[in-house]
Amino acid sequence: MTPVTPATPPNPDRSAHPDSPGGTFRTAGLRRRGLLRTGAAGVAALAAALLPGPARAQGTGAGAGAVQPDIDSTSTWGARAPQGTISVLRHRPSGIVIHHTASTNSTDFSRAQAHAHARWVQDLHLDENGWADTGYHFLVSRGGWITEGRHGSLSALTGGSSFVLGAHTSGQNDRTIGIANEGSYHAGALPPEAQWDVLVTLCAYVCAQYGIAPAQITGHKDHGTTLCPGVYHDMLPRLREEVAAAL
Ligand SMILES: [Zn+2]
Repeated sequence: MTPVTPATPPNPDRSAHPDSPGGTFRTAGLRRRGLLRTGAAGVAALAAALLPGPARAQGTGAGAGAVQPDIDSTSTWGARAPQGTISVLRHRPSGIVIHHTASTNSTDFSRAQAHAHARWVQDLHLDENGWADTGYHFLVSRGGWITEGRHGSLSALTGGSSFVLGAHTSGQNDRTIGIANEGSYHAGALPPEAQWDVLVTLCAYVCAQYGIAPAQITGHKDHGTTLCPGVYHDMLPRLREEVAAAL
């Protein structure tokens, strides 16, 4: 848990969430990536050796080429019950907004750390922000493990026709899926490859399930004054390209 970036507030991304306490919230869908550079087989081998998270990415197909990633549900990581009503929107989201959680850049790439991170974010959003539940739909750990954020996000994503109202980007919560990456990237740190690869897979799965064009993947700072998602924002063109290639 050694921070590689300057000390930051518990959740700097919070400043980017003008959403009022108890306001909108939703959860989104995640997925793992399709391993474009080396092919599924090569990635699987690599994942098996080094990246336990991505190794689980091999799942059932969602769209033409999208891979359904393993996503640990709220019950799997031990989420607390929501402190309010989770609103289900009976329409498909039209975009994805990328975030970082401004957590310390842990070198612990384990599934246990991904779960601890999910609990940390939920605690902040419930206890400090006063929200009904985690603001993001999905979170991607630095080790490449995906966790469901807001309750209901995973089942909605699997269904492909609805999503839950989130609390991640002011003005975008009723139209986009919020995906947050564990770590702080606003001070120059680069995302671990495992996290990047799984983010691509998850975004491709979300795009496939909801019919979202990769061009509609944006970063938090596109919608407000915030440093979020840091370096990830600079990498959005590449993200869109890799997601498109994975579909
Ligand atoms: Zn953000």
